Amino acid sequence: MIYLDNSATTMPHEEVVETFTRASTSYFGNPSSLHKLGGHAAALLEKARAKAGEFLEAKQQHVVFTSGATESNNLAVQGTAYARQSRGKHLVISSLEHPSILESAAYLERQGFEVTRVPPHTNGEVTVSSIEKALRKDTILVSLMHVNNETGAIMPIEAVGRMLKQYPTVHFHVDAVQAIGKIPVSFQQSGADSLSLSAHKIHGLKGTGLLLYRDTRHIMPLLFGGGQEAGARAGTENPAGAAAAVKALRLAVENQVEHAAHMRELNVQLEAFFASRPEVVINSPAERAPHILNVSCPGRMAETIVHALEEKDIYISTTSACSSKTSNESSVLKEMGADQAVAESAVRISLSGLTTAAEVHSFIEAWEQTVPQVAAAKGAGT
Ligand code: PMP
Repeated sequence: MIYLDNSATTMPHEEVVETFTRASTSYFGNPSSLHKLGGHAAALLEKARAKAGEFLEAKQQHVVFTSGATESNNLAVQGTAYARQSRGKHLVISSLEHPSILESAAYLERQGFEVTRVPPHTNGEVTVSSIEKALRKDTILVSLMHVNNETGAIMPIEAVGRMLKQYPTVHFHVDAVQAIGKIPVSFQQSGADSLSLSAHKIHGLKGTGLLLYRDTRHIMPLLFGGGQEAGARAGTENPAGAAAAVKALRLAVENQVEHAAHMRELNVQLEAFFASRPEVVINSPAERAPHILNVSCPGRMAETIVHALEEKDIYISTTSACSSKTSNESSVLKEMGADQAVAESAVRISLSGLTTAAEVHSFIEAWEQTVPQVAAAKGAGT
């Protein structure tokens, strides 16, 4: 098997699974219980929180453990909007955001908020000036992803963070799911007020993630109940899940420089190969995160290419995993101004630090043998 769909999810590291298994049995108490089993579980949870803060250059009290980045993004956008609505009801997001941001914003619109969606440049980057132009007196939140999950385009997070310092009433949320472990991520330096992460994208477990939030006293929770996670997220905590997420985070951060250099090398080889193929258009910008390369074969359907490679036990994806079952075309590429034939034939190859040069080589051979044979889509433009 050659797995090149690491932006959708990654195979968990064995150490992470071991941490989860060990912690689940040794620290099974409810962290809220008064007895010592509860105390042990609470201590494990707080240790994980402190470590997460350390690895992300954030303070411990900023860390809210969640079920993953969909929840973190929903909490950041909706929780901030509801908490700040007395100051204004206008939000600014990029039009390239993950559905968990786009749909949260659309929901808030139905509740009477207003949303400005800022489109990217044709290279997939959203500029600081386009964000600044969208701001209004009643803007309470800006949400921008660090790295786009389909093209790998890197957004100017630190520059947006600096610009927003002039607008202290605006909360700045960053979805850093595709950035962590691939490019440096520092909560302090980003200038963000909140930041989302998901463990399963960095060889952690599904259903675990976190939200960094500058001041949890100013967030409206989505889940009400026992007031866990400093009131930001009720529900019995998952100390083993938190410990496993933080183990995955530690490995991602510690290996970031080495893994990024390795992935960059493989990514450049893939780009050189695709540049030589007459059937291929490269959609990712030159300046991109090291793990993603997005290409199209106008006239062919992305889905057919994915299935043809799957026959050879090679796994890549169409658009993103979160939208590939609902649409055949990439809305991200459409937002970048790509035509229909490019948007509906886009595939994403995504690497991890564990992808080998031999796997990339076999992928290239398989592409040469398979994709030119893939039948042109009926009625597809070119
Ligand atoms: N944001 C981005 C940029 C993503 O790529 C993803 C995963 N597809 C998410 C958010 C959602 O993360 P999770 O799967 O943890 O809900």
